[in-house]
Amino acid sequence: MDKKKMYINGEWIEGTSGKTFQSVNPATGAVNAEVCQSSLEDTKAAIDAAYTAFYETREWRDMDAQERSDMMLKIADTVAKYKDELAMLDSIDMGKPLREAEADVDDTIYCYRYYAGLMKAPHGGAYEVNKGFGDMHCYSIHEPIGVCALITPWNYPLLMGANKLAPCLAAGNTVIYKPPTVSVLSAIKMFEIFEEVGLPKGTVNLVMGSGSVLGTELSESEKVDMVSFTGSTAVGQDIMRKAAGTVKKVSLELGGKSPNVIFADADLDCAVEWSMIGVFYNQGEVCSAGSRIIIEESIKDEFLKRFKAKAEAMTIGDPLKNPDMGSIVSEEQFNTIMSYIEKGKAEGATLVTGGERYAEGECAKGFYIRPTIFDNCTPDMTIVKEEIFGPVVTIQTFKTEEEAIAMANDTPYGLAGMVFTTDGARSLRVTKEIRAGIMWINCNQPAFNEAPWGGYKMSGIGRALGTYGLEEYQEVKQINIALNPGPVGWYENE
Ligand code: NAD
Repeated sequence: MDKKKMYINGEWIEGTSGKTFQSVNPATGAVNAEVCQSSLEDTKAAIDAAYTAFYETREWRDMDAQERSDMMLKIADTVAKYKDELAMLDSIDMGKPLREAEADVDDTIYCYRYYAGLMKAPHGGAYEVNKGFGDMHCYSIHEPIGVCALITPWNYPLLMGANKLAPCLAAGNTVIYKPPTVSVLSAIKMFEIFEEVGLPKGTVNLVMGSGSVLGTELSESEKVDMVSFTGSTAVGQDIMRKAAGTVKKVSLELGGKSPNVIFADADLDCAVEWSMIGVFYNQGEVCSAGSRIIIEESIKDEFLKRFKAKAEAMTIGDPLKNPDMGSIVSEEQFNTIMSYIEKGKAEGATLVTGGERYAEGECAKGFYIRPTIFDNCTPDMTIVKEEIFGPVVTIQTFKTEEEAIAMANDTPYGLAGMVFTTDGARSLRVTKEIRAGIMWINCNQPAFNEAPWGGYKMSGIGRALGTYGLEEYQEVKQINIALNPGPVGWYENE
């Protein structure tokens, strides 16, 4: 079996520690690969390489914009060339159904193409000003931030990387990328692609291994200008604290506990199917999952009847055979989800369906969990308050719109929300009142590279994607020019 190496300063290296960790297929328990574990020294070397590439050799930063954009397009085309391989890697590394992994590759291609175009769109503004210092012209320009550390989670291994790498590179920065330890294979392939298209030496660097060791160095280093992190709120807080010492820019895409509000006038079949997508897609390991269903009391029983029947009909199995649901990413995450299920039962929620391991036939060695629905949930229950990050949904009921909004906002998170109703005005009223960065009306989860993605409250700081996503990786500079250079007579005493 090949040992997978890290990529630093344009070289594939084993690193200084001599240690490796395993990439394991959670659906079968099979070992996919041995991966070289980056040490603190390797991380420092990666930072130095990105620092030299940005501040000294400057090849990527100073590259003609058209040429840089062409490189981005070449990355997109090369990702397309390896689409089947990349999708398969995410599926065997993370447990997601193959067709979902294929959709992630498509999104990745679009993301690089989108930023290849956007990076050449006009930026900055120009202002004519005259404030007692003579005629002046003022304008602003956008510049790269510098050396960026990008840290991502395992739930969309390839795509979460693309959502950071594409805008970060488009803006002209250099990168140290730290993918999640449990799902590294598509990141390694991406770096082979960067090498194949010929990104200048030191522009992109890949380190792999312990989040706390590598992440601490990336957050604290004086040579790193920005940390862009997607992952849990607890780790985001830790990064923010560590980054404070150097006041580097921090961008955080964190967890969620998103409310899915369903009114009695909703198209019920529509609400049922989208609610399934909302919490069972990707085994529910989705930051924006609609994991709290808040439904008008009068339709709960009928909704639940249909929702339960559909959930129980879902197929579970080998992700490569395209079941409705694949395997949970790891034994650790499996145990976390199962312990939340036990808490739900202990705290008095009614288990409607699921709540147990699925181990039939070929699934015996994997970490599969049946789609799980809890009814009669109350705001104080752990399963209502905390992000579970698995195929588990809670159901609460309301009688009035005000009550629904209050319940929806009763969370420290603010990533996303959903509203199902056929009353157009109400859908907009409720959408405006929910304190979240992403809202879906009569649908659930589809998202686009063109639109900003990010959270209110404890779900994060900053926005990924869209024009905002490019600006995250840019500094803005104000430049003032005197149009009639010369003394202005401010100090009149000789
Ligand atoms: P995690 O926070 O455990 O890990 C994320 C990344 O941070 C990994 O690469 C990990 O190795 C690294 N890391 C761990 N400890 C670190 C430290 N002390 N300093 C720096 N880096 C460290 O999250 P996870 O379990 O991989 O992913 C699940 C979480 O990610 C969920 O909370 C989910 O909601 C969130 N998420 C958010 C979004 C979003 O867009 N808001 C998207 C996907 C996932």
